Amino acid sequence: MPELPEVEILRRHLQPLLAGRRVADVLVSRPRAVRPGTPEALASAMRGARFADVGRRGKFLLFALVTRGKARKVVGHLGMTGRMYLEPSDAPRAKHEAVSIALDDGHERLVFEDPRGFGRFTTDRSSVDALGPEPWDESLDAGGFAGALRGTRRAIKIVFLDQSVVAGIGNIYASEALFLAGIAPGRAANTVTANQAKRLLDAIRVVLEAAIASGSKATLDFASGSDGLFYHGSAGEGPKHDERFRVYDREGEPCPRCRSPIRRSVDGGRSSFWCAKCQA
Ligand SMILES: [Zn+2]
Repeated sequence: MPELPEVEILRRHLQPLLAGRRVADVLVSRPRAVRPGTPEALASAMRGARFADVGRRGKFLLFALVTRGKARKVVGHLGMTGRMYLEPSDAPRAKHEAVSIALDDGHERLVFEDPRGFGRFTTDRSSVDALGPEPWDESLDAGGFAGALRGTRRAIKIVFLDQSVVAGIGNIYASEALFLAGIAPGRAANTVTANQAKRLLDAIRVVLEAAIASGSKATLDFASGSDGLFYHGSAGEGPKHDERFRVYDREGEPCPRCRSPIRRSVDGGRSSFWCAKCQA
């Protein structure tokens, strides 16, 4: 499932391809993707507008559009295995196409493909408005971060997944950051000390920045026809870059620090990977 780094890489890929392009038409094949809005609302918000910018908040893409001087935003979310890419309009339609946006003279289109049906392409902004700060936000300092963690007894890993303390982290990068900071995923958030919270915030930034750098390089390394998609577990021909993970999906393999076997445990129905010796 794509997390902040994968979405950021896609954003950087789509931004120059879409900026300045005009929306000629909007075709919604799966109304579920635009919920809680309607296909008609999406079409009337987008038709005739120009893409001004492609931004990102957490795991969401923010398509900024302008029509007759009025700004509009459309929110995109890849869900579990979604993809967004441009292709010629006469290419065969993808089996799981959810939304297709015809651009300019109609020779090219932006496609949102969503095999699992968990993604979104919608004018509804409520999910984005509920997000906590970006990991690099100036408002997120070590003191504030520690304070937010003190407010809950839930496992630290679960706190990350709900996006309210910090946006963009999912299962993979939560495991990675907790390993780097030496904190066990099942640890009650309110027992994390101020020093540990600072270490954890630093670790979050380090793993996300490294993943963006590594994924950006990988997408550039695609011979041609890169669609900007790069994330762990994605099918397709891209190079596998899961070797960048220190503990994620490495149950039974030696810890990179102490060589004891990596454990897998389940927090809130999701797997955590960690070292019982290095993390407490
Ligand atoms: Zn270890």
